[in-house]
Amino acid sequence: MKRAAKHAFGIGLAFSLICLPELTLGYAYVGQAGPPPESPLGSQTTGEPVTWPDGQANVLFALNNLSSDYISSAVAAMAAWNAVGTRVQLQQGSRVAAPCNGSDRVNTVGWLPSTCDGEEFGDALAITVISFRYSSTNRWEIVDADIILNQNRSWIPYKSGRLSGGQVDFRRVILHELGHAIGLEHPDEAGQHVEAIMNSQVSNLDTLQADDRQGIAFLYGGSTNPATRTPAASSGSGGGGADVMLTLLGAIAVLRRRVAQVG
Ligand SMILES: [Zn+2]
Repeated sequence: MKRAAKHAFGIGLAFSLICLPELTLGYAYVGQAGPPPESPLGSQTTGEPVTWPDGQANVLFALNNLSSDYISSAVAAMAAWNAVGTRVQLQQGSRVAAPCNGSDRVNTVGWLPSTCDGEEFGDALAITVISFRYSSTNRWEIVDADIILNQNRSWIPYKSGRLSGGQVDFRRVILHELGHAIGLEHPDEAGQHVEAIMNSQVSNLDTLQADDRQGIAFLYGGSTNPATRTPAASSGSGGGGADVMLTLLGAIAVLRRRVAQVG
């Protein structure tokens, strides 16, 4: 069924290229791979995606030490993804945790002076570190996402449209990073030319675009009701839980995705 959907996109793409290139769809995502030592594939546009485990409808984010205006922006960005109406819903969590722990299963958002590896951010505004495990259902799945913001930049909680004076709009950046947290990648780095908040550079876009919405819908379907989801092609025994996580700790893979600023 997914293959058919992608085929339809392909046809639309060919047609759109003739007349309306800005309407083409080109979202990219993390793709499935074989068991360790293989690891999930970045920047895929075909094949099976890597997502949060089937059955996990809510992905919670600890908004570490954010002031109320930044929390408002983060919650608004989550609401924008949630409004697409897929089965994954992003919410503020109540826990606070270290921002660079990829195996604590607490997703964090917070500022740091350097990356989790201790390296300089360079031109990166933010980096999302996504951790995956190879599950008992023989699929890679996302288990942790930590969003690290460059503490050295001039952030503002929210400003729509064009930015100036080196200001960085937290809301559009967090919108982009949350896209990584659910498994989306950069369309432009996958050879696609589309209007998308998920492109690798921050631009004057400050809202989700059609391509972004198609991306999350491809990954998580069109229903917000977990009861109506198509069940995974696996048995329920042994899946999920801390025990599996611990025994498969060696099978965790990590992707780091960064976003830079235009100009
Ligand atoms: Zn990015």
